Amino acid sequence: MATAAFETPKLKSYPVIPLVQVGAMSHLKPFVASGPIQTALGFPEALVDDWQEKAIAKMGEMLSKYRSLQVYMDACVHCGACSDKCHYFLGTSDPKNMPVARQDLMRKVYRRYFTFAGKHFPQLVGAVDLTREVLDEWYSYFNQCSECRRCSVFCPYGIDTAEVTMAAREIMASIGLGQKYSNEIIGKVHRIGNNLGIPGPALENTLEGLEEDTKDDTGVDVKFPLDVKGAEVLLITPSADFFSEPHVESLIGYAKVFHAAGISWTLSSHASEAGNFGMFIGNYEQMRNISMRVREAALELGVKRIVVGECGHAWRVAYSFWNTLIGPFDFLDQRYPVPQHICEVTDDLIGRGALQFDKEANDHRIITFHDSCNVARASRMGNMPGGQFVIPRRIITSVANHFHDMAPETIHESTFCCGGGGGLLTDDLMELRVKGALPRMEALKHVVDDHGVNFMAVICAICKAQFTKVLPYYGFNMSMVGGVHQLVSKAIRLGDK
Ligand code: SF4
Ligand code: SF4
Repeated sequence: MATAAFETPKLKSYPVIPLVQVGAMSHLKPFVASGPIQTALGFPEALVDDWQEKAIAKMGEMLSKYRSLQVYMDACVHCGACSDKCHYFLGTSDPKNMPVARQDLMRKVYRRYFTFAGKHFPQLVGAVDLTREVLDEWYSYFNQCSECRRCSVFCPYGIDTAEVTMAAREIMASIGLGQKYSNEIIGKVHRIGNNLGIPGPALENTLEGLEEDTKDDTGVDVKFPLDVKGAEVLLITPSADFFSEPHVESLIGYAKVFHAAGISWTLSSHASEAGNFGMFIGNYEQMRNISMRVREAALELGVKRIVVGECGHAWRVAYSFWNTLIGPFDFLDQRYPVPQHICEVTDDLIGRGALQFDKEANDHRIITFHDSCNVARASRMGNMPGGQFVIPRRIITSVANHFHDMAPETIHESTFCCGGGGGLLTDDLMELRVKGALPRMEALKHVVDDHGVNFMAVICAICKAQFTKVLPYYGFNMSMVGGVHQLVSKAIRLGDK
């Protein structure tokens, strides 16, 4: 691993609120999207001449379209309840990474142009002009928010900083100041079909290779079908599952579950990506266009169910937005949730006794579970409140003997972000990613020290990639992170169907 050009924070007991260091992260901003990346998404290729006027007009449009944004701008009483809840503030000490301060970057501009007091007495109400300096601060600090929503859990008014961040990014992209990482990936989905840019033939080869490897490992013909018309289930999974470690281990797990339960399934080369970075940049049109491939694939293949693999933000988009954006799904089998999470499928099969496990196969692992933000705070699973917390843990304890949760204030709806969500999983933000992972690393260290935990299970492709990269900064082994279905894969009993 290359030496970091910044200091990795020391692991401390938690919760410790840091002394503020003004401007500690003001130097950090992600690469700006180039002209071709921007224009491929219909955005201006560079900052337009009349950017200030256009940005204010766009803000006005969004305030009238999204009433929640208007409420968030007006409702904050600066009580400070959110100020120490952001992992990026806790990890960087930069006061502009306090959620309320992040919101205020937009609120000050909102007041200047959209309130009576701000128009006439700006100094009295802390209103500011949208200057180039302010815009640069927006670009820096709205790209230091992973849209994880932890702060909103603690806000007495339910103000959602993630939505403010999304709105700010949408405004910036619309005037030609887009973020390279997210916008480039969205372009790849439109052009090639998935975030990693894997063309159809390469995907086919990969799946054939996985069939051979799984046969070698188990002696069983577990299939990884692609574009099979008439299959019961269409699996939409993050493209990282096809190539990346440890992601691919979970894909093998899903395939084994379908095999063991005798469920016919298929992947789609047209919709070979569950991820949807349209949400990260706050752009509903992009989110809809990316999602539409799923509906088209489901209709084309004539499937009865759509199941989503281990990916946090993809599940949020699917659970919270698909029905509105690309529904209705009246052509699917209504006896199943639409859409359905792979954990719901596996949990249901376990509950009905349709899967058998050798739990001892995971005895070398002492496991904890990291709740991913978008699953924990922006979606649900099963038919009970909090099902998204219960179901993954119930699967883990069905397939393994040793499980310990991390401290209660760091899990479930209070979970800390991995530090790489919301379109920040890029090397140009590595300092932020490492520092933002601090609260989760501290909670992990406690269960490592107290219980000997050596494996952190997750159900998010971004969490897997982020933790693999940042765990070594804190002295942990990168291979101690993996998917819930990686554990399922290890323990499941297979028989020829
Ligand atoms: S949404 Fe998450 S990353 Fe953004 S300010 Fe709130 S706690 Fe921080
Ligand atoms: S908790 Fe809510 S009301 Fe209080 S400062 Fe934060 S955003 Fe404002």
